Amino acid sequence: MKIMQCDLIKRKVSIYGEYLYYIVLIFKRSDFMKLTFLGAAKTVTGSCFLLETKTKKVLIDCGMFQGHAKEHALNCENFAFNPSEIDYVLLTHAHIDHSGRIPKLYIDGFKGEVLATKAATQLCEVMLPDSGHIQEVEVEWLNKKRARANKHLVQPLYTMQDAIDCMRLFRKVSYNEEIHLDENIHVTFRDAGHMLGSSIIEIWVRDGKEETKLVFTGDLGNIHIPLLREPSIILDADYLIMESTYGDRLHEDSENKAEKFLNIVTDTINNGGNVIIPSFAVGRTQEIIYELHKDKEKYKDKLERLRDIPVYVDSPLAISATEIFKGNLECFDEETRRYIESGENPLDFPGLRFTRSADESKALNEMKENMVIISASGMCEAGRIKHHLKHNLWKPENTVLFVGYQAQGTLGRKILDGAKKVKIFGEEIFVNARIQSIDGFSGHADKDGLLQWIRNFKKRPKKIFIVHGEPETQEVLANEINETFGIECIIPDRGASFGFSGMVVTKAGVALCENKQKFIRLSVLEQLDVLKEELEELTEILKMSLKEEKEDHEILDLKTKLKNLEKAMVDVLK
Ligand SMILES: [Zn+2]
Repeated sequence: MKIMQCDLIKRKVSIYGEYLYYIVLIFKRSDFMKLTFLGAAKTVTGSCFLLETKTKKVLIDCGMFQGHAKEHALNCENFAFNPSEIDYVLLTHAHIDHSGRIPKLYIDGFKGEVLATKAATQLCEVMLPDSGHIQEVEVEWLNKKRARANKHLVQPLYTMQDAIDCMRLFRKVSYNEEIHLDENIHVTFRDAGHMLGSSIIEIWVRDGKEETKLVFTGDLGNIHIPLLREPSIILDADYLIMESTYGDRLHEDSENKAEKFLNIVTDTINNGGNVIIPSFAVGRTQEIIYELHKDKEKYKDKLERLRDIPVYVDSPLAISATEIFKGNLECFDEETRRYIESGENPLDFPGLRFTRSADESKALNEMKENMVIISASGMCEAGRIKHHLKHNLWKPENTVLFVGYQAQGTLGRKILDGAKKVKIFGEEIFVNARIQSIDGFSGHADKDGLLQWIRNFKKRPKKIFIVHGEPETQEVLANEINETFGIECIIPDRGASFGFSGMVVTKAGVALCENKQKFIRLSVLEQLDVLKEELEELTEILKMSLKEEKEDHEILDLKTKLKNLEKAMVDVLK
């Protein structure tokens, strides 16, 4: 056996290549722990990792995939394990892409415990039923269509009631508490500074005399996020599983961010327009409320002006979440706590108004006065924000201001990427409003933030698994980490498993290939949809050009565009 191990160590570089199954056969018996990447692998959503030890099966997160048809199909897929065999879910935070499939896990037979901080649990109490409600409404709409087409009806992923019921499996844990899952495994949650109640999770697994420590960053907070503390520093790990959402770019610095924000809002209002802010109901919304209110000498005049402008938070979920924020003030940073001690409420100010009912929400679009509307969902995929975009996107005096990450394929991403028109509720809406983005509000550390966080390790990890990012971003971050610290990085595919045997990590196969054909078809369909939109846009331009005299070079440009489109279509169909 010793000879085999030496042999394998020598082949470390090619371990993840063609020797895959050969290595699995040799090492299967000696692996004392296996980690499988079931979501947030080469993508930013669907966070879910399965850790199997000799005694326990533990999930770290059980999140929902967000996007379009392909992501929806992924959510509906059966779990790649038997849910009734899972002992624990360790939840890093309440965002739906980390928690959204817990109700499905529950109805599929999970009877273990979900460990999460108090604030994360309270947020899940409102966010998961809200997600269940969205599933029900979407299926109801779809079933009406299917009934008319004589097709069989479909079931929601889970209902609001399922989500309420699954909450009984939650157990609240405190930051920095040592929690023993059994005699061989213990875990500790540390503040990740990403959203209220968010955690980095440290896991120690003992095998005989040997102990291996895994650290899951969850979503790692950005520095200087309003309200929240900085991400905890972790001093040691054998293996790190790290998010990479903003791993290839740098955020604007905090001061610029506040200034830019105030300028955009005041300019738009002075021009007689509205500012529409698509925002995650939880986290960003409360930070923006704080940013709008915080007294800064430097921006005194602008802040004065702002106080006369009504700011509507139009998301029932954001209202509940704001209440939860108020009930967890101990999680806030020093600055916020000082602010509270001085008698101020950081989550309230004179112009702030909350709209609860759908009628109140609709009434906003009839109002004459200019306003700021903060509404969910943050990626414009669902919820009231779609109505506000429908009413405001086509007017040039308005601004749509993005403050959060926009995943590929979402309506938010299309608008941010410069689409000239978009479809909302089946209606074509022109994008004439000013489109702005401030990524400094991001709850995620940027490239430097991630590197700095690694630099703080006293005993650096042997390997880093890069997750929760788009593939190109992950490549950039992996190279940076490798060049800066000399640590080997692995970017796992969805379904990839790794066996841990002492110092040696081996790839233990890819489990999720049974539906591969289906997913390929779904992504081809998505690409064709994009091409279809481009073709429609080009047709529109050509029709317009018939009416006006075009310069030769403009006609040439159109021809080139058409050629590129033709080529793209051939590539997709291939
Ligand atoms: Zn998150």
